[in-house]
Amino acid sequence: MNIYGQSINMLEDYFKSFGENPAKAKIVFSALYRDKISSFYDITELSDAVKERLSADFEFSGISLITKSETETTCKYLFRLSDGHTIETVLMKHGYGNGVCVSTQVGCNMDCAFCESGKLKKVRNLETHEMVQQILYLRNVLDIPVSHVVLMGIGEPFDNYENVMNFTDIISHQQGISIPARHITISTAGIVPKILEYASRTAAPALAISLHAPNDELRSRIMPINKAYPTNGLIDAARVYAENTGKKVTFAYIMIAGVNDSDECALELAALLKGLNCYVNLIPYNKTRSASFSPSSKERVLEFYDILKKQGINVTVRREFGGDMNAACGQLSSDYRNNI
Ligand code: SAH
Repeated sequence: MNIYGQSINMLEDYFKSFGENPAKAKIVFSALYRDKISSFYDITELSDAVKERLSADFEFSGISLITKSETETTCKYLFRLSDGHTIETVLMKHGYGNGVCVSTQVGCNMDCAFCESGKLKKVRNLETHEMVQQILYLRNVLDIPVSHVVLMGIGEPFDNYENVMNFTDIISHQQGISIPARHITISTAGIVPKILEYASRTAAPALAISLHAPNDELRSRIMPINKAYPTNGLIDAARVYAENTGKKVTFAYIMIAGVNDSDECALELAALLKGLNCYVNLIPYNKTRSASFSPSSKERVLEFYDILKKQGINVTVRREFGGDMNAACGQLSSDYRNNI
């Protein structure tokens, strides 16, 4: 097993399983993530017997960097996993700190019409440690402080639910990397049963839902997942989440010219979200290799924004990162041929 896949709870159970004090879990966590040790023999607080046992049971092996491309505000990393598959991770330099966009699967089964990441179908889920290591590579190897994390890279986080929950538990734990849950955002294409399950986790990271259309006819055309989980049920699940957790839901809405950016769409969207504790994040559409869509004009985005605002909806326009080097939303790919 890989040590970076172990949450505090898992390590406590591990120590208990052979009669050791579970408090040792915190010592290991702190050594791993604060002292950045790469051998259990470096943890002076542990007995030789425990060090040996840990060394026999857990490995440290990591992901390796193949290449990176960089602009002033964005850096995209292509990583090789131990089985040879590749994933991408993006660093975004914000005024308030560094955000990292993490991938959760190799490929993606959502098949959204506007997104490159789904062009290679899901090959497999990422293991928890492979997500943790995307952060660790930047933080430990490249010495880049990480203050925010978004699960918006390749893959559908709620199609890899258990590993993603372990990942966010690990990176948010105070004894470790300690990125506060409110600085972490999980984005889903709309897997309704998992949104409902997530709604019971009150101390969890923020939730974003990729909505992109205000009705079933349009949403099913650009997001096939809508056929399994139609819009009204999705909004109901978001309502349950907002009510249970007391948190706002973010709805991502890509602005695609002539597809979902009409005045009627804005009005329909406002009606759909009425009374829901949420805000809408309008995202300029990024061109991809495969789709023939075009972005809405700046004027259209602002008109759409104004309509939502007038209808009493909280709305923002997202600043874009990385569009010039295929590192922006929807442009990431697990297909190695696209990345070299
Ligand atoms: N599968 C999850 C996580 C991926 S997040 C989800 O769908 O939410 C990636 C975000 O970028 C999603 O909101 C997605 O809809 C959006 N996106 C995909 N393709 C895009 C494109 N071409 N331009 C802008 N945003 C895009």
